Amino acid sequence: MPEKYDLAVIGGGSGGLACAQRAAEYGARAVVIESGRLGGTCVNMGCVPKRVMWNAAELAAGLEDAVEYGFSLEVRGLDFATLKAKRDAFVERLNGIYARNLEKRNVPLIRGRARFTAAHDLAIGDQVITAHRIVIATGGRPQRAALPGGELCIDSDGFFDLTDLPERTLVAGSGYVAVELAGILASLGSKVMLAIRHDRVLRSFDSMLSDGATQGLRDVGVEIVAGARAASLARRDGAIELTLVDGRVLPPVDCMLWAAGREPIVDGLGLERAGVVLDESGFVKVDEFQQTSAAHVFAIGDVTGRLPLTPVAIAAGRRLADRLYGGMADRRLDYQNVPTVVFSHPPIGTVGLTEAAARAHYGDASVRTYTADFVPMYFALTTRKPRARMKLVVEGPEERIVGLHVIGEGADEMLQGFAVAVKMGARKRDFDDTVAIHPTSAEEFVTMR
Ligand SMILES: Cc1cc2nc3c(=O)[nH]c(=O)nc-3n(C[C@H](O)[C@H](O)[C@H](O)COP(=O)(O)OP(=O)(O)OC[C@H]3O[C@@H](n4cnc5c(N)ncnc54)[C@H](O)[C@@H]3O)c2cc1C
Repeated sequence: MPEKYDLAVIGGGSGGLACAQRAAEYGARAVVIESGRLGGTCVNMGCVPKRVMWNAAELAAGLEDAVEYGFSLEVRGLDFATLKAKRDAFVERLNGIYARNLEKRNVPLIRGRARFTAAHDLAIGDQVITAHRIVIATGGRPQRAALPGGELCIDSDGFFDLTDLPERTLVAGSGYVAVELAGILASLGSKVMLAIRHDRVLRSFDSMLSDGATQGLRDVGVEIVAGARAASLARRDGAIELTLVDGRVLPPVDCMLWAAGREPIVDGLGLERAGVVLDESGFVKVDEFQQTSAAHVFAIGDVTGRLPLTPVAIAAGRRLADRLYGGMADRRLDYQNVPTVVFSHPPIGTVGLTEAAARAHYGDASVRTYTADFVPMYFALTTRKPRARMKLVVEGPEERIVGLHVIGEGADEMLQGFAVAVKMGARKRDFDDTVAIHPTSAEEFVTMR
């Protein structure tokens, strides 16, 4: 007889773990199936190791700033192997904590790749389990470079396997992963080119952020190759060369990092056996309650193609468990006004609508913006002068804040509190009524005129 569960969760990443644990707290008999490393993308090859690398990159700049503040330092370079070893050890500690969190809640972990064999049945190797409800939380993976010579590329997963800092790197992509990794590599001392299809990065962000991030990359030494459509890659004399569709051949590099998008992991799941359908882009189709086309199957996180962020996957998973096992019939995730940070140089914080989206939605006449553009005080004593830029997008006579955007030193830590205010429906005058904290960059948000 197959083992019976109330809830089987496929994928032990951010969303899956959160959902299973919350369900177990309500008394459900839940199980997690994980084919890779516990914690999924975020812990193993996403947010966590990326943030460690970004911290290292910020330190590299900070060491130079320290000299300009009067410190006498002797920096003998970066021991990349030490950085990697300490980062990997930290990730392993987290893997252990995640396993213990499951144990504490009596949620068994089955190691292996799950596939549907019938509507309620999953096979993991030779083992078969059956569950009243099933959650698909299988996440995503980097898209492969589908061009001749594509096998010469590493992707963002491969970035975290690097044991040395490449001397010369070419990054392809203009989304946040490409921007973050290009910035980190350049700040740590690699000579970086970034090949982008258009003329700026982060094109779906507010134009102020997109322009600022593009400039920020240049400021840390990244050479941006605009209008670049990759045609083929070849290895010549030990180096890698990218040829573009227009015939340009980019200078040789030691490492080619392909960061041009991610795709959902749905292959091999046997979704058709459960009656689960995909949308036109290949993501698992869900309604506002995370329910798929099969009434007993749900999907959360990156596999649904909606805001691929760790806290979003976690929030969707917890709310789903609240609804299914916690008696909260209407509980669901509101995907509006989700704050997000890009760990660029300087970092970006953004919540709500871009100015363009607000104008398209509310009409030009009812949208107004307030902006600030300045050099943060930290850089008063340094040669480098990265600017901070801020924008409030307000709507209607009440001037409700519908978008808040910032690029600048400290933006990563600045955003969370402001996101609460935006989510609560703050108006410009609420910001004006808040006394500033001086001297900070954040105070500009409450002193804009
Ligand atoms: C480089 C990078 C940086 C990022 N930085 C940030 C950041 O700073 N902040 C942020 O919020 N988000 C960040 N993200 C995004 C974040 O990592 C994801 O949004 C998040 O991990 C999604 O969680 P998930 O539960 O949907 O999927 P995942 O965390 O990917 O978990 C899915 C799990 O399912 C497993 N699995 C797949 N198929 C099966 C199967 N058939 N059987 C069993 N197990 C299976 C996988 O092994 C995986 O462990 C980053 C992503 C990348 C790639």
